[in-house]
Amino acid sequence: MLRLLNRVAQYAMEAGMTGPRVVIIGAGIVGASLADELSARGWDQITVVDQGALPSPGGSTSHAPGLVFQTNGSKTMTQLARYTVEKLMDLDLDGEPCFLQVGGLEVATTVERQAELQRRHGWAVSWGLDARLLSPSECVQLHPLLDPDLVRGGLHVPTDGLAKAVRAVEAQLRRAQSRGVRLLERHEVVDVRTDPAPDGRPGQVVRAVVTDQGELECDLVVCCAGFWGPKVAGMVGMDLPLTPLAHQLAWTGPVPALAGQEQEAIRPILRHQDADLYYRDRFDQIGIGYYGHDPMPVSPFEIAPVSAGDGSMPSVLPFTEADFAPAWEESQRLLPALGDAKTAEGINGLFSFTTDNFPLLGPSFDVEGFWVAEAVWVTHSAGVGRAMAEWIVDGHCSSFDLHECDVNRFEAHQLAPDYVLARDCQNFVEVYDILHPLQPMEEPRPLRTSPFHRREEELGAVFLEASGWERPHWYEANAALVAGRTVPVPDPWAARYWSPIVAAEAQVTRERVAMYDMTALKRLEVSGPGATALLQEVFTGNVDKSIGSVTYGLFLDVDGGIRSDVTIARLGRDHYQVGANGALDVDWLTRHQPADGTVQIRDITAGTCCIGLWGPRARDLLAPLTRDDLSFKYFRAQQFSIGNVPVTALRLSYVGELGWELYTTSDLGLKLWDTLWAAGQEHGVIAAGRGAFNSLRLEKGYRSFGTDMTYEHDAWEAGVGFAVRLQKEAFIGREATVARQETVRRKLSCLLLDRVPGASTDSIALGKEPVFAQGTCVGYVTSAAYGYTVGRSIAYAWLPAELSVPGQQLEVGYFDRRFPATVAPEPLFDPEMVRLRS
Ligand SMILES: Cc1cc2nc3c(=O)[nH]c(=O)nc-3n(C[C@H](O)[C@H](O)[C@H](O)COP(=O)(O)OP(=O)(O)OC[C@H]3O[C@@H](n4cnc5c(N)ncnc54)[C@H](O)[C@@H]3O)c2cc1C
Repeated sequence: MLRLLNRVAQYAMEAGMTGPRVVIIGAGIVGASLADELSARGWDQITVVDQGALPSPGGSTSHAPGLVFQTNGSKTMTQLARYTVEKLMDLDLDGEPCFLQVGGLEVATTVERQAELQRRHGWAVSWGLDARLLSPSECVQLHPLLDPDLVRGGLHVPTDGLAKAVRAVEAQLRRAQSRGVRLLERHEVVDVRTDPAPDGRPGQVVRAVVTDQGELECDLVVCCAGFWGPKVAGMVGMDLPLTPLAHQLAWTGPVPALAGQEQEAIRPILRHQDADLYYRDRFDQIGIGYYGHDPMPVSPFEIAPVSAGDGSMPSVLPFTEADFAPAWEESQRLLPALGDAKTAEGINGLFSFTTDNFPLLGPSFDVEGFWVAEAVWVTHSAGVGRAMAEWIVDGHCSSFDLHECDVNRFEAHQLAPDYVLARDCQNFVEVYDILHPLQPMEEPRPLRTSPFHRREEELGAVFLEASGWERPHWYEANAALVAGRTVPVPDPWAARYWSPIVAAEAQVTRERVAMYDMTALKRLEVSGPGATALLQEVFTGNVDKSIGSVTYGLFLDVDGGIRSDVTIARLGRDHYQVGANGALDVDWLTRHQPADGTVQIRDITAGTCCIGLWGPRARDLLAPLTRDDLSFKYFRAQQFSIGNVPVTALRLSYVGELGWELYTTSDLGLKLWDTLWAAGQEHGVIAAGRGAFNSLRLEKGYRSFGTDMTYEHDAWEAGVGFAVRLQKEAFIGREATVARQETVRRKLSCLLLDRVPGASTDSIALGKEPVFAQGTCVGYVTSAAYGYTVGRSIAYAWLPAELSVPGQQLEVGYFDRRFPATVAPEPLFDPEMVRLRS
C-alpha cells in the first residue's frame, strides 16, 4: 500500500497537483473530518460525495445528540476522543460553537456500578484525562435534577461535553472547500470501478467512483458511508463486519423546572448505565437515550438511500413507544423533575455496531486504493479524521496506535454474517454493562477447537476464548494439586476467572512438566525463493542463518514503532515458519510481498496444532518417544517423529523452562497429545492452562504484543532492543530505530506490589491501572499476574525513564485504593537462563 501511495503521489506531483485524486464517500461527521484533515495536509484533488443534501444528508450524524464521554478502556479510543474535543473546541460556524464543554457525569445507583466508576476513573487517569470521583451530594450539585436518594456516587470529566455534530460537519466542509475540496451532494454512489492491478501485482486497483450522475475518476476512495458501509464496500467485494442497530432517542417537552433556560446546555451530560440510559439538556427540554430495549438490527443492504432529496431519513425508524416505557419510568425516578413533563418526540435511530466495539479503519486487503473509516462515533470522529489522514498521506499513523481499529484485524470466522449479527447485537446489549477484562464472549461458542479439545474437556478444562479458539484457563482435574500449597487469594474482582488451581499448575510446571495447548497462536508459512529477502526486509532479526535456526525479532513500522513481535524458524532453505500474533501480521507481510510470485505466505494455524511441553522433566518425558537426539540447543528447530507423529519442534519456552513447542498437523494432534500424556504419567505430567502461562511469562519478563507494547512504542522503550540486529544493513524501521535509541523517555518496567501489613492480599492488578509517584499519575499497568514462584504480585507498567530504576517506590491505583509498589530488576526468575538452556 505504501508503494502504491508513493506511486500515486508521484504521478500527481508530475501533473502539477498535490496528492492523488481522492473521493470520500459520505459527508457525515467522519467524511467531513477526513476532508478537513486531508486538505489541511495540502492534498488538493479531493471530492466528497453524498447521496443526501448537505450539511445534514440524513445519516447517523444528522440526528446524533452528540454526547462525548471520553473515558474508555482503550487508550487509543480515549485519545481519539480527546483530539475530537480539542479540535471541536477550536471550531465554530459563523461564531457558533461546535462543542459545548459542559462536562460529563456518570452516576452509580448500585454498589457494583460505584466500583465500576472507580475502575473507569483509573482508566481516565491512566490515559491522562482530568477526572474525579464525586460523592452523591457533589453529583447533585453538578446536576441538580438528580434524586439525591438514588445516587451513590459519580465520575466527573470536566472536559467532556456536547458535540454539535451537524455544525461541525458544516464548519469542516467549509474549511475543506476553501482549500479546494469539491462537494457533490445528492450524488448516490452506485458502484466503484476497479481494474486488475498492473505490474503483476495481485488483486484490483481503484479507477473510479460511479454515481447516479456520472463517474468520478480517482486513485483513492475512502468509504465513510456510515452504516451503509457494507453496501459500499461490497461494491469492491469487501466484507465489512458491522451491523446497523436502532437505538432509542427521545426528547421531553418543556420541563417546568428548566423553564427560562437560555443556554442550550448548562448541566453536564449524564449517564445512568445501571439502567442503560443517558441524558442531555436542550434549553428547557431533556434528551434521553436508551439502550435497554431488545436489539433492533437492520440489514445495511435493505436501508434505502436518501438521494431523492425529499427530506426523508431512512436512518430514522419510527419510535416504538412501548420499548421506551421502562426508560421513561426510570428517568422519572432518577430525575424527578421529569414527572411534570412528557416525551414529545422520539426516534429509533440507526448507527453502526461492530463485533469488538472498535471502528473499522484502513485500506482494503485486496483492492489497492480502497480505504474505509467506518463504525465511528461522533465522539471519536475528529481523531479518526486525523488518524486516517496521517495513514493515507504518510503511509502510517503517527499520532495514534491503531492496531485495535485496523479493518484487517479479523479472523475469517469473524466475517461470517451470522457471527457479525450475533456479536453486534450482543455488544448493543452490553454497551453499558460491567465487563471483567477476562470475560469471554458467551455466544457463538464453541467456534474453533484444537484437536486436544476432547481430552481437555475430560480433564475439566475451564475454557476462555481467544480469536475464536476455546483455550483452557485451568483444569479442574488438577484440583488435588492445590493441597499443601499456600496460595494467596485475590480480591473478589481479580478472583473472577481465577482458581487456586492456576497457582498449582504454575508451580508444577516449574517442578515437573506440563502440557500447554498453544494452538491458538497464529502460525504462518513463508516460502519460496524470495522468502529470505522478504523476511530480511520486514524483520529486525537475521533469518539468513543455518537451517534449524530460530530467531525472535520485531516487525517495525517506518517510524520504528513496534507492529508485532514474532519468532521465525528456518525449516528449509526457502521455507520459514513464523510464530505471529494475529491477522494483522498476515496483512503486514502480504503488503510487502513482492509482486513477482517468488514468495508464498500461508496461514497454517487452522490446519496445525501445538503443544508446549515445558518443565524440568520435559526431556525425560520426550526422549524415549523419539529416535532423534534431543540435545539441540535453545532457539533451534528440528523435525522428527514422536511415536507415530511427525512434529516440528522449536526449542523455546514462554514460561522460562526447558522444553519445546511441538507442532503437527491437526489430524495427528490427538495422537500427539495421547502419546505425550501416556509417557508423561511416570514424570507427573499435567495439562496446564493460560492462567499459569501468564504468571510464568511475567516472572520471565516476556512481553506480549498488543498489551505490553504496541505501535506507539519502540524496541528500546519496550525492553526488546536485544531483538534489533543493527548489524543488518537494512530493514523497515531501522533508521528510525537507530534515532530513537537516543530519545528513550519512557520504559516498560517491572513492578512488584509490596505486601501491605494487615491487607488481605497483594494479588490484585489486572492491567490498565494507573501508577502514581508522589500522588501524580506517571504511567499505567499493562500486564499483571501473581508470580507463584517468586511469591509476589507482578505488574508491568509504562513509566518515565527516570522512574524506571530498581528500588523506586510507587503506587498502583486499584479501584478506590492505592497499593505500594517497587520497581524491580528483571527478569524476576532465572535471569541467567539456566533452566531454559538446561
Ligand atoms: C440516535 C443516535 C444517537 C447517537 N448518539 C451519539 C452520541 O451521543 N455520541 C456519539 O458519539 N455518537 C452517537 N451516535 C452515533 C453517531 O451518530 C454515529 O456513529 C456517527 O454519526 C457516524 O458518522 P458517519 O459519518 O460515519 O456516518 P453518517 O453520519 O451516517 O454519514 C454517512 C454518510 O454517507 C452517505 N452515504 C452512504 N451511502 C452512500 C452512497 N452510496 N452514496 C453517497 N453517499 C452515501 C450518507 O448519506 C451519509 O450522509 C448516535 C447515533 C444515533 C443514530
